[in-house]
Formats: sequence, C-alpha cells, structure tokens
Amino acid sequence: MWLQVALPLPLYRSFTYALPAGWPVPRPGCRVRVPFAHRKAIGVVVAVCEQCELPADRVSAIEAVLDDEPVYPSDLWWLLNWAAGYYQHPPGEVLFTALPAPLREGRPPQPADDGCWQATESGRQALEAGQFQRAPVRQALMEFLLQPRSVAALRAFHKHWRRHLRLLQQQAWVESVPSPLAQASGTAARHALNAAQQQVVDAVALQGFSTTLLQGVTGSGKTEVYMAMMEQVLRAGRQVLVLVPEIGLTPQLLQRLEQGTGWPVTALHSGLSDRERQRVHWQARQGTAAVVVGTRSAVFTPFADLGLIVVDEEHDGSYKQQEGFRYHARDLAVARGRKLDIPVVLGSATPSLESLWNAVRGRYRHLRLKTRAAGAALPQLRLLDLRVEQGEHGISERMKAAVRAMLEAGRQVLLFINQRGYAPVQFCPQCGWQGHCPDCDRPMIVHRKAGWLRCHHCRRQERLPATCPDCGHGALVHVGTGTQRVAERVEQLFPDVPVIRVDRDSSRNVQTFQQLLKPVRDGRPCVLVGTQMLAKGHDYPNIGLVGVLQADQSLYSLDFRAQEHLAQLLLQVAGRAGRGRQAGEVLIQTWLPEHPFFVTLLQRGYDALAEQWLKERQLLGLPPAGHMALLRAEARDRELCEGFLLQVKAGLPAPLQAKVSGPLPSLMQRKAGFFRYLLVVQAETRAQRQACLQALLAGAEQIRRRKGLRWWVDVDPQDPF
Ligand code: ADP
Ligand code: ZN
Ligand code: ZN
Repeated sequence: MWLQVALPLPLYRSFTYALPAGWPVPRPGCRVRVPFAHRKAIGVVVAVCEQCELPADRVSAIEAVLDDEPVYPSDLWWLLNWAAGYYQHPPGEVLFTALPAPLREGRPPQPADDGCWQATESGRQALEAGQFQRAPVRQALMEFLLQPRSVAALRAFHKHWRRHLRLLQQQAWVESVPSPLAQASGTAARHALNAAQQQVVDAVALQGFSTTLLQGVTGSGKTEVYMAMMEQVLRAGRQVLVLVPEIGLTPQLLQRLEQGTGWPVTALHSGLSDRERQRVHWQARQGTAAVVVGTRSAVFTPFADLGLIVVDEEHDGSYKQQEGFRYHARDLAVARGRKLDIPVVLGSATPSLESLWNAVRGRYRHLRLKTRAAGAALPQLRLLDLRVEQGEHGISERMKAAVRAMLEAGRQVLLFINQRGYAPVQFCPQCGWQGHCPDCDRPMIVHRKAGWLRCHHCRRQERLPATCPDCGHGALVHVGTGTQRVAERVEQLFPDVPVIRVDRDSSRNVQTFQQLLKPVRDGRPCVLVGTQMLAKGHDYPNIGLVGVLQADQSLYSLDFRAQEHLAQLLLQVAGRAGRGRQAGEVLIQTWLPEHPFFVTLLQRGYDALAEQWLKERQLLGLPPAGHMALLRAEARDRELCEGFLLQVKAGLPAPLQAKVSGPLPSLMQRKAGFFRYLLVVQAETRAQRQACLQALLAGAEQIRRRKGLRWWVDVDPQDPF
C-alpha cells in the first residue's frame, strides 16, 4: 500500500510514502508522521493507492499513523479540497490552515484537560459507607462528583483537585467520562419580533440548503432575527456557526447571543491561545459546543452536526484572508452550507456587490428590513461644503457648532477620520522636503506625542526631526489631520467632556478597547474620535451626532471598489447615530459636494449606487459580473519581479479565453523595500479563469525558483491593484 501525503509546504503536489506491511490503512484526512528531507514532518493522508509509479527504493515508509479517525469531518474535508482547487493554493497549506497548532505539531486532537469526571458506582458506595469522613476535601470532592464535572469546574472547586482526584482514581472511585452534549443554558430572553422581522424568519426555511441575503438598515434588528433562527435550529439539536468581522467580536455580542438564544456561546478568534483554539475545535466536533461565534478562520471549525451558518456584516473586508491561503470566509460559508444542505444567512445594511449580484440572478433570496426596530428614525446625511468654510485642524466651524449643541443637549458625539496618527505629512516650507518612507514610496505619518515618524505600511520609524534634514530650516509644518490631532483640538475646544480616541494605537487589544469605551456605555456626554474601528457592531444609544471629517480621498482612488467601500463605511458609521429613542444626525465634510457619488448617495441611497455600479461593472467585465484573479510577484530587484511575470505571460499557450493584462506595477509599487508587480486575469466564466490560472501556474512552476522572488495567486482579489 502507498499513501499520498500532503505536507504543509508551498508546493502544488503531494508526496508518496509506503505503508509498512500489516499496518491498518489510514483513511484520507488522518495525520501521519513521515521522514522528510532529513527531518520528521507531520502530513495528512490525501489518498491511498495500490500501485506506486516510483521505484520502490525511492519511496520511504511512514513512521507513524497519528489518528484512527480523520481529523476533518467529511464536509470540512470536501470544503478544503474544493477550496484548494478554487483558490489554486497548495493543498498541504490549505489542509494545515484548518488545524489548530497542536494538531499541526502532531498532538492528539483531544485536549489533555477536556472531558469530565464523575464518581463510579463503587465510589458512590464508598461515599455512602462513610469512607471519606476523615478526609474532608475528598468527601466534598466525591459529593461534587456525583454529577459529571468539567476540568474547569474542578479547577474552580479546589486548588489541589488534581492530587486528590488522582488518589480517588487509583481506587477506581472516579472515572473520566465524555462531556455532555450542549444543552440550553436557560430560556431565551429577547424582544418579541416585529412584523417585518417575523416575515423574514418565516421566509427562511431552516431546512435544506438556501442562501439568504438579509439587507437591513443599521438598527433594523438583524441580530434579533439571527437569534430567532438560531434558537429554532438549536432546539432541533443542531449547532450554529456565526461569523463576524474582526472588530465585531465583543463581549457584549457574546452575551447578547447567549441571552437571546438561551444557549451557551463559544468564541473563536485570533486572540486565543493555541490550546484554547484546540479546545473549541474539539468541543464543536464532539457536539459539546452549541454555538461558535468567530472571525474569518472560524469557517474551518469542525462540527458534529452543523445546522445553520450566519455571516454578519457580510460585506466586510476582513472576511478575505490577505496572505498565505487567500480565501474568502463568506464564500466558503456558502459552499459549506451547500455541501451540508443547511441554510446560510448573510446579513448587512450595505451588501457587497457580489452578494447583490447573486441576489439579482436569483441565486440568493433577497429579504429586507427597511426601518429601525427600536422606533427611532434613520439619520439623515448632510454635507458640509469645505470650499465655503474651511476649518482648523480638520474641523469646520459648522461641525464645531453641531458638536457643541449636541454636548449641551447631554448627548454623545462620534467624529470619524480614517487616518491614525497626528498628521499624514511632515513638510519643509523652505525646500519642500517631506518625511517619506524610503522603503514604501509613501509619506511617513507624524506621531507627535510619541515623537516618531512612522510608516503605516512597514515597521520603519524614525525620530521626529526638529529641523529639516535637507536644509536645516527650523519650522517644519504638519500637513493634514489624523485622529491624534483631532482629539487634541477637541480637548481644547471642549475641556469639560471626556475625549476618547479609538484607533489601532490607542486600543491594541479587546480589553483596552472595552476599557476605553466605558464612558460611552455609561451614556454621559463625551466625544469619540476614531477610525473605522468605531464603525462596526456597537450599539450606544446616546450618540446623537456622527461627524465625518474627511472621506474624499477614496473618490480619487484607482481601485474600482473604492466607492463601494466608502459608501459601506459611511453608512455604517452613520448607523451609529441615534440608535436609541432620539434621532441622530450625520454631517459629512467634503471638498466635493457635487460629486455624483454624494449626490446619488444622499438623494437616492445605497441601492441606487449599487445598481449603477453593477451596470458599470457589467459593461467593463469587472467582478462580480466578470471573474478576476491576480498573479502577484514581489522582489527587492524590480527587474527580477517584472521579468518573472513577463516570462510567465510569454509562456502562456496561445488560444486562451481569458484576458491577461500586465505586468503592471501595484498601486503601491514598493512596500517594505519590495517591488510589487502583477498580472491581471479577467474572464467571463469561472471555468475560463481556472483554465488560464492553471496555465499560468504551470508556467510559473517551471521557472527556476530565484532567491528573493516571491509570487502567489489571488483569486477574487479584494484589493485588486
Ligand atoms: P442590527 O443588527 O440590524 O443593527 P439590532 O438587532 O442590533 O440591529 O437591533 C437594534 C436595536 O433595536 C437593538 O437595541 C435591539 O435591542 C432593538 N430591537 C431589535 N428588534 C427589536 C424589536 N422587535 N422590538 C424592540 N426592540 C428591538
Ligand atoms: Zn528644508
Ligand atoms: Zn514603509
């Protein structure tokens, strides 16, 4: 017998190993330990064959089979193999992406401290017979263990639980038992659905595969709808997966889902330790976790019996993995739902054009919630024309007055600016010098308090120069505005209210983020200044004004999705206003008030914009109307990078139904010292794109690997240039 084994390597092939005679044959999806290049490696069996084409002395034998059962449930196995083909990514890396680190290292799938302990029959008799009267801790422990108890519960029960437990185990008075399947933790406590919400729930059959696009304005009660559906599925004894954007996973959301469904909720996110992640995977696989809520990679959680997948804020960019295996979690969720024959619900106030396109063509059911659930009206968007009233430090006079009025009315204000730091440019008025990152072709951002110039695209930072490095001029100016500058200005203007700055510098993790936002939760007047970290998933009823300080740059961008992303961001930030009973207002500062983007957005809304964009993209063959992929290359040497792509393109077979353009420089041509170039593949159908990609990859694989050159494919790229 021979085994085809995938190893976690960036290679589009698997490796052949011999199975020693007499060993049980492992199934595909089981891990094995194999010798590889004078080391040992963990691999995954992808196929078992009777024949081997290689000469027998060229094939090594596997050293150990690590699993009796595949580590991937069958639907996940299918999904990963399908995704490796769809994204044209090396299968070994794809299979390993889905495993928690301890499994990648060859450890058993069951975490050491999972499972429960319980008294045995003889233990109960010993307890009744008074065996433990002189050992009070053991007596208490035995009483505690009359029911199955998890390791976590035991740990909380007594400091030295392990030692006592071991003694009891030696006498066979206690034994380890599997954890009980997930059970409801209480009754669901949530709002009674309004008529519109009820219609949505009724329209989605919770059996069989379907994809529903739930387009509901911010505050329309989408989360309540998810919870009603989740409860039905959970009561039927099945599990639920909820995907949320990176910034959306807050303790408030977990608590809300737990209370609203009446079932325990387990979180899965990048902040967990390897062992915690392993435990969540194990519990989901055993069926002891009912609901898993997680970010992008949670789409790979193994489940015992998954019955529903919800993808909240489905348009969010964080669902696309931007390095390594570049999958889109929303699209994989839909594929997995189809395979499992279960419903998938995609929710958003501003759906991606991809999902709208699928809805238009009848692939997704399109349902809507058009009004806010809690009664307040949706905020009106208004523009402040910066051509007629400039401001200082990025805040115009009318914006200032609106902030003052809102604070005096006892309400809160959110000022949005998509630039962290103090100012985006440091400039010498005498000779024109600018603080530029030498590795990235981009200005370095002034971080004034910390005293640094920092590049936001690589790790470079330099001391803030006091005088011009070129001409020695002593009065350098800061051009433009970032969150720090705005926060400083607001503190000067309104010294009596707390000013809370929220960006990646001020809130590096969930805890500090939660801590920072405490005054906002308390509801007292305050001003929040922040980046798009503030846009998502927060429900603070007392925010009365949302001020957008600058958003114009996107309107100059060459990225064909820039306007789509801007509209989504603006409406999402705007959605933070007036979520309680009182209405809110939204003011957007702009130099371009007559730009068609703003005119359409304000007069006719997102749907009108989306319709227009879809028409344009159809005309131009751009996604989602056409199918796109990139072959990207990076090298410190420009010619190496561009030359590689030229060579790959030149080697393409003649009749191809896809169009290949390039090599083009990336929009950011240099990053962290690397030149970046790309080939763009555009095709009418996925099959044509796949054929072209395969030809490109075959060509690229043949070119001898050059040191210092990296290349990869990006299918359905989100940042296309
Ligand atoms: P979304 O997820 O669409 O932004 P949420 O589900 O967070 O909306 O609901 C917004 C607010 O409206 C929340 O405070 C929620 O408690 C409230 N809400 C939602 N549905 C109802 C309802 N049927 N009755 C009363 N309040 C509701
Ligand atoms: Zn100078
Ligand atoms: Zn840089």
